Amino acid sequence: LFGDTRASQIPRYARVNTLICSTEIAVEYFVSQGFKLSSPFDEKSNNKGFSKDEHISDLLLFHPQISFQDDAFYKAGKIILQDKASCFPATVLNPPATKDTAVIDATAAPGNKTSHLSALMQNKGKLFAFEKDKRRFNTLEMMLSKAKCKNVKLVNADFLTTDPLDRDLSMVTHILLDPSCSGSGIVNRLDYLLEQEQESESDQGERLHKLASFQLLMIKHGMKFPNVKKIVYSTCSVHAIENEHVVAEALKSDEAKHGNFKLATASEVLPQWPRRGLPQEIDDPRLAQSLVRCMPGDDKTNGFFVSCFIRNEVSDEPVL
Ligand code: SAM
Repeated sequence: LFGDTRASQIPRYARVNTLICSTEIAVEYFVSQGFKLSSPFDEKSNNKGFSKDEHISDLLLFHPQISFQDDAFYKAGKIILQDKASCFPATVLNPPATKDTAVIDATAAPGNKTSHLSALMQNKGKLFAFEKDKRRFNTLEMMLSKAKCKNVKLVNADFLTTDPLDRDLSMVTHILLDPSCSGSGIVNRLDYLLEQEQESESDQGERLHKLASFQLLMIKHGMKFPNVKKIVYSTCSVHAIENEHVVAEALKSDEAKHGNFKLATASEVLPQWPRRGLPQEIDDPRLAQSLVRCMPGDDKTNGFFVSCFIRNEVSDEPVL
């Protein structure tokens, strides 16, 4: 497709929506449909091989050419087509499945990470999903209803205008920030490839810097929530300007200092995943170990970046 050979290296990923289906049942179902539990690239299985992912639970891998548009489980919301790397942020945020958990997904549409969070929370607690664009908000609403997410409160608003001291929002303990980015990690995004060709280097630089300032503002806003313990920031960009540089600036910010935020240790951020942040792009190169990167194609995913800020706890009591 579009001459991008990297696409043929990326399996078709299907995340089992554990709110309405178990992985065991999904595996049985696919076997009954003629698939064989082996590997997505198993030549003997005639493109019908599939497997469970080694890093992300409830994620299945199929051959890249498999289409699920007419599949009964897909239509019923029992599987969600979501790239592996895009499952990393909710996995790292890992909000507990309790009635007291309160989470914000600050930039939610189309909602794959929102439904993933809702599944990890087992539909318990409260998940506030913000989306400022009305059309994308409508898609989000539809996707979450299809996925049977019941603990989500949808808000069609700009996250930057939210009041961290609001009665409900002030109780939030976990924030997922997956803001707009250049999308440069997405394999086969024809629009991006065309854009890249047409754009001069200085135009591209300016666009990336604008995105980076916005991304930094979003993190700093997240850090103002009084009870937040964990913030995951992710992009589908391969540019250090939007990734390591934004993280470095966020760590130096007044918000991080006042809130006592630091990067989570490598052991808390997908320790089994080998590709880490770029040490040459961050002031303290040791911090790169706490960051996760995915190389488009090479890692059998799209290009991606994940970071996780945590508050150095002084006390476990909520701030009222
Ligand atoms: N997390 C989503 C998922 O996995 O399906 C993808 C999010 S997409 C990268 C970024 C989204 O953030 C876009 O839908 C965009 O309209 C929205 N957005 C951008 N700025 C925002 C803001 N200040 N407040 C709320 N939403 C915003």
